[in-house]
Amino acid sequence: KSGFITIIGRPNVGKSTLLNRFVGQKVAIMSDKAQTTRNRIQGVVTDEESQIVFIDTPGIHKPKHALGDFMLNAAYSALKGVDGILVVVNASEKIGPGDRLVIERVKQANIPVFLVINKIDLVTPDELLPIIDSYRQEHDFDEIYPISATEGNNVDALVKGIKEII
Ligand code: GDP
Ligand code: MG
Repeated sequence: KSGFITIIGRPNVGKSTLLNRFVGQKVAIMSDKAQTTRNRIQGVVTDEESQIVFIDTPGIHKPKHALGDFMLNAAYSALKGVDGILVVVNASEKIGPGDRLVIERVKQANIPVFLVINKIDLVTPDELLPIIDSYRQEHDFDEIYPISATEGNNVDALVKGIKEII
């Protein structure tokens, strides 16, 4: 079994951190500054039963200049020809225009789209539930995984879900 998975979301939600967690080593450049990930960085995760190729994308945001435009196109082109899409959002922030921009884009995809609610280490379970609900109202995601990319919570379940769609 093998397949390609694209990781998408607005800047700083933890896309590169998640890719690093999947791969188990530092492959993407991490920073608090938006737009550090300028190119699509691929990480490959291989085990006895499967090979998953992950494509990290620059954060989606409204382009203000030519480079931003280029990066946005790079992110969107990474949605084509893959087996599934991970939309990553921040559990500790309310859904915003950047998240909505991403969700609007993936609505056109006819492949599985998983919502990954990252940074759950920053919220309580009581705070998390309304966040999950607000995303459910935006789109009928194939699966929703609350995780922490830095702590590793629930990342195994996410990988298991990915293996089912490749
Ligand atoms: P990207 O722009 O979406 O690729 O985001 P990065 O992976 O560069 O992460 C942005 C910031 O969020 C960094 O400071 C990360 O350490 C932090 N971060 C990522 N995942 C988590 C998480 O699960 N919990 C917490 N508390 N911080 C996280
Ligand atoms: Mg990044």
